[in-house]
Amino acid sequence: MTLPKEHMQHALELAKRGIFSTTPNPMVGCIVVKNNQVIGKGWHIKAGHNHAEINALEDVKKNHGSSSEELLLGSEVYVTLEPCSTTGRTPPCSEALIKAGVKKVYIAQEDTSQEGLESLRDANIEVEVGLLNDKAIRLNTGFFTRINEGRPFITCKIACSLDGGVALHNGESKWITCEESRKNAHQIRASSDAILTGIGTVLADDPSLTARIDNEEFINLNKQPLRCVVDSNLRMNGKEKILTDGHPTIIFTNRSEKKFKDQNVNTIAKPGDDNKVSLKDLTQHLGQMGINNLMLEAGPVLVDAMIAANLIDRFIFYIAPKILGSRKLNFSKLEGSIKNLGTIELEIEEVDAIGKDLRLSIIPKY
Ligand code: ZN
Repeated sequence: MTLPKEHMQHALELAKRGIFSTTPNPMVGCIVVKNNQVIGKGWHIKAGHNHAEINALEDVKKNHGSSSEELLLGSEVYVTLEPCSTTGRTPPCSEALIKAGVKKVYIAQEDTSQEGLESLRDANIEVEVGLLNDKAIRLNTGFFTRINEGRPFITCKIACSLDGGVALHNGESKWITCEESRKNAHQIRASSDAILTGIGTVLADDPSLTARIDNEEFINLNKQPLRCVVDSNLRMNGKEKILTDGHPTIIFTNRSEKKFKDQNVNTIAKPGDDNKVSLKDLTQHLGQMGINNLMLEAGPVLVDAMIAANLIDRFIFYIAPKILGSRKLNFSKLEGSIKNLGTIELEIEEVDAIGKDLRLSIIPKY
């Protein structure tokens, strides 16, 4: 006998298959069960395409042909997010479930923008909400952050030595962390909708900020995360990799002029205080564009400004067992004092060994 929890876990795993492609939509998985047997399964692949529930119902038809209608009557459905009630680019899933005559729907997480729950209950379908809720929320943290706060979920990646160094004083920073760490960071890039960096990093390293991973689904999408650069005074000269490699880049600036005419380069003014770009407006702008997950890969100036603006939701530290000593550049230059020591409270969420390094996932408590 498979437990409801196990069916929902299965649905969550199906949802994850959409990790590179569902954005700006959430990842959703769905299982249809009759007499404790899985009779159909589906997940949401891409915005504009069928939702998970529809794919699961169609899978039942595909697997069971003429007996599918009878099988669906009285079946149980496990779905990781509340079925939709509004007609978007596809008809509402709650209606499809009602029409199919299912008996019970297990929902891991509610969607406050929908009224699928009410529709199902009004149709006398039993509904149970909250099974593996924490996992379902975590799966779509970016989507929920955007819906609730109007901006993406922001993950700050820092690759540093044991003593917090990201580079030597002369800027040399290659090979601080091991190959496994660097591969893992590319996974985060690939599952992010956008990467944010600062002008200092671009001028010093000329990075391409593309995701290079060995995953067929990602490669087939032929899509890279949107690169975003904070360049208040438009200091790039136009020859930088992120402006010339054919993938899209947005320059957030303080100035009103558009310096670059390339069709892949967009310049957006978000003026803030002190001649700097408003990071709050920048992240809200990305939220409006449907960016769910933003990865911050930057030097201490931008990292500190993002911390000060309470705009980092999670740090991923890759820490190499190396000591760079006193002549190094730290990931942060925040002024500390006895008085404010420890005022940025951080909570360790996960600790993993990765190659020769440590990987820490850390949540700031603002
Ligand atoms: Zn739907």
